[in-house]
Amino acid sequence: MPQVPDVAVVGAGPAGLAAAVEAAEAGLGVALIDTAGQPGGQYWRHYDEKHARPDDSAGHHGWPVFTRLRDRMYALRAAGRIRYLPGHQVWLVTRDASGAFTLRMTATTATAGGTDRTLVTGALILCPGGYDRQLPIPGWDLPGVMTAGGVQALLKGHRTTAGRRAVVAGTGPFLLPVATGLARAGVTVAAVVEANATLGWLRDPVGAISAPGKGVEALQYVALMARHRIPYKTRTVIREILGTDRVEAVRLARVDCDGRPTGPDEELPADLVALGWGFTPSLELPLMLGAQTAKDVDGSLVVAVDDRQRSSVEGLYVAGEATGVGGAALAVQEGRLGALALADALGRPADPAAMRRLGRAVRRGRRFAVAMHRTYPVPRAWPQWLSETTPVCRCEEVSYGDLRRAHDDLGAEDARTLKMLARPGMGWCQGRVCGFATAGIAACLSRRETTPGDLRSLATRSLAVPVPLGELAALTEDTTPVAAAGEPTEQRGRDGE
Ligand SMILES: Cc1cc2nc3c(=O)[nH]c(=O)nc-3n(C[C@H](O)[C@H](O)[C@H](O)COP(=O)(O)OP(=O)(O)OC[C@H]3O[C@@H](n4cnc5c(N)ncnc54)[C@H](O)[C@@H]3O)c2cc1C
Repeated sequence: MPQVPDVAVVGAGPAGLAAAVEAAEAGLGVALIDTAGQPGGQYWRHYDEKHARPDDSAGHHGWPVFTRLRDRMYALRAAGRIRYLPGHQVWLVTRDASGAFTLRMTATTATAGGTDRTLVTGALILCPGGYDRQLPIPGWDLPGVMTAGGVQALLKGHRTTAGRRAVVAGTGPFLLPVATGLARAGVTVAAVVEANATLGWLRDPVGAISAPGKGVEALQYVALMARHRIPYKTRTVIREILGTDRVEAVRLARVDCDGRPTGPDEELPADLVALGWGFTPSLELPLMLGAQTAKDVDGSLVVAVDDRQRSSVEGLYVAGEATGVGGAALAVQEGRLGALALADALGRPADPAAMRRLGRAVRRGRRFAVAMHRTYPVPRAWPQWLSETTPVCRCEEVSYGDLRRAHDDLGAEDARTLKMLARPGMGWCQGRVCGFATAGIAACLSRRETTPGDLRSLATRSLAVPVPLGELAALTEDTTPVAAAGEPTEQRGRDGE
């Protein structure tokens, strides 16, 4: 492969793996970069392949899709058509006047052998996925409280259970694989606590049946829930997580459709609480490049792409969760479509019929995602669950009371001003954990809807991850100044605000 690949694909999850394979098979020289030590991303996360067991695929839907993609990727790597860089995290990306992208990378703990520090490429397909969306609730900082995705990652990646008696709470279908995965691993699941009513699917029957495979998956989870006798409590939320040094119990309340408590409280003992309010895209890299964004149906900020996965930045394609949360099958279709569209743009043979088929599949997948998000919204009134002392930003120890005072006493009407005056999102995680919640609190305090500007001000980060000072020192002069990488430019901010 030439020193400069035709395309770099960031992320080897469902979207990135599919994009890399499709692009290489269409004749492009591909570099595939991923933080993890082995491919699969979040959905197909699995135990170390060197010590695989036959039951490692249990609970993984679409496992044969993964193994086929993975085997094709390894074959293309052996043929010199894909340069696969596992254990590499892209922490900075810039685009120069000629349109070339420069990626700066750092080693992760999964890195075996040497690390490539810099990669220059003519085109980029970003598939960075997303992460758990969290809402603060009283007690959420007690040991024993984890994100639902984190609990799932421990199970799938390390065959480790995070507790013995769990409550899985939040909203959305993802609560079911987490609960049934725990139960299968021997954990007592005291309840799945779902804030919404599942009858919401009936509001959009066409959307609901747009992905028939998902219906089958849901039925399998229902059967597993019944087999493990896991209570499923709808229109219920955790009002408070109780405990002294760690989680001991949760206090539940019935809520109305906006999340306002309606019923008497109930207490359930637990030593593990898994919280999941859906996912939110990882936007560090697309935002560094100034890609246009939009607020999705689920209230998260996403990269805006056209019907060929092209972003507003020339040469930048984005696929998977970063363009809107919709599940692994949709991510695969988007990755394939983006790769074929890029191959087409670079004059390589790309089957137009295949592209049309993929385009239709992506539209169907998006319709299903919209129905799912409308069925499982984050309840509008969730900030009412907070007390003055509930920590919102755990890195900077900013409480809900601090945010309320910044609004009431200092006039902070939007998330950016709240951030400047009270410091949420200013710490180690740079708003990854508290960004969505802070944007929601800003909107609620000002009695309005969250805007893309609220979300964007907590999603823009100068560096994608903290890096050692040595990495910064190694930057050469041809890079865009680091401080400017996350700043809005005129091209940026076309969010329709
Ligand atoms: C913790 C977690 C667990 C999940 N578990 C499930 C589940 O069990 N069942 C289910 O239906 N859905 C699950 N999901 C949702 C599921 O991840 C998505 O539907 C699907 O995996 C999306 O595919 P993707 O390719 O867009 O992203 P992902 O699968 O998230 O893949 C993105 C990849 O990009 C890599 N990456 C990100 N940023 C960088 C960077 N800067 N440099 C290099 N590499 C980078 C990541 O390490 C990751 O490997 C989970 C999500 C999360 C966050």
